[in-house]
Amino acid sequence: MVMLRELRRKYKAIYNDITDIDVILMDSLGIDKSKLFLNIPVAESSLREIEKKIARLNNGEPVSYITGRREFMSLEFRVNSSTLIPRADTEILVEEVIKRCSGTAPFIFEIGTGSGCIAVSLAHFIKSAKIAACDISDKALEIASLNSELNGTGEKISFFKHDIMKGFPEFDAVPDVVVSNPPYIKHKIIETLDRKVKDFEPLAALDGGIDGLDFYRKIIYSVKLNSGGLLALEIGYDQRESVENLMRDKFDDIKIIKDINANDRVILGLMR
Ligand code: GLN
Repeated sequence: MVMLRELRRKYKAIYNDITDIDVILMDSLGIDKSKLFLNIPVAESSLREIEKKIARLNNGEPVSYITGRREFMSLEFRVNSSTLIPRADTEILVEEVIKRCSGTAPFIFEIGTGSGCIAVSLAHFIKSAKIAACDISDKALEIASLNSELNGTGEKISFFKHDIMKGFPEFDAVPDVVVSNPPYIKHKIIETLDRKVKDFEPLAALDGGIDGLDFYRKIIYSVKLNSGGLLALEIGYDQRESVENLMRDKFDDIKIIKDINANDRVILGLMR
C-alpha cells in the first residue's frame, strides 16, 4: 500500500505547486491540514479517486468544482458548475455591508445569489437580519438553499427565482439594503479569460453585456430603497467611474472600497 508521504513526494516532483493537489488529498482522505504531513497509508480505492481528481485538475477544472467545496468568510459552501466559485474579493463587499448594518435589524435583498455565499454570510454575521435573495437559475437556487441549511441560516433567508432584468421585485417592506455581485465582465472579454473561468464557470454569472454594465444600469434605475437605504455592489477593476456616474442621480455618499490588489472593487451609496 502506498503511503501519503511518498505520494506527496511523487506529486511534488511532477507538479512544483501542489496546493490544489493537497486540497484534493485532504478532501479524498477526509483529513485536515495537520494530518497532511503524517505518513498514513492510502487505500487503493482512495488512490484511484485521487488520481481521477488530479486528471480533472490537469484538464484545467478549478479545484473547488472537483471537491465541490469552497470556503468564504470562514464558512463552508458547496459549489458546482451552476454557480460561480466564491472569490476572496467578494468578502470585501460582505464585510462592508456587515460593518454598516451593525446594531440594526435590516431587511436585505441580494440580487443574483449564485451559491448563496453573500446572503448566507450576511445572515450568519448579522444576527437580526432578514434576507431575501434571488437568482435566475433554478440550479443555483438549489445550491444556495442547501448552503443556507448547512450553515444554519435556513430560517433567515428566503430564496426565490427572479430575473432582475424584468424589474425590481415587490416586497411587503422596502429593503434597507440591496446588495449584489452581478455579472460584470464585458461580453468580448469573456473569451480572453483564464480557461479555468471561461470553460468551467457559468457564463450567465459573468457576462455583463457589451460594456459590462447591463446589470448595474438595470439595478440602479429600478432599485427601491427608502431614503438613506444602502446599495452595495461589487464592480470590475475598471468600472468605478461608469458605475459612479450611473449612481450619482439617485445616491449620496458614494464610497469605493479597494481590494487587496488596490483595485476598485466595491461601490456603496445611500439612496437620496
Ligand atoms: N470577479 C469575477 C472574475 O473576474 C467576475 C465576477 C462577476 O462577473 N461578477 O472572474
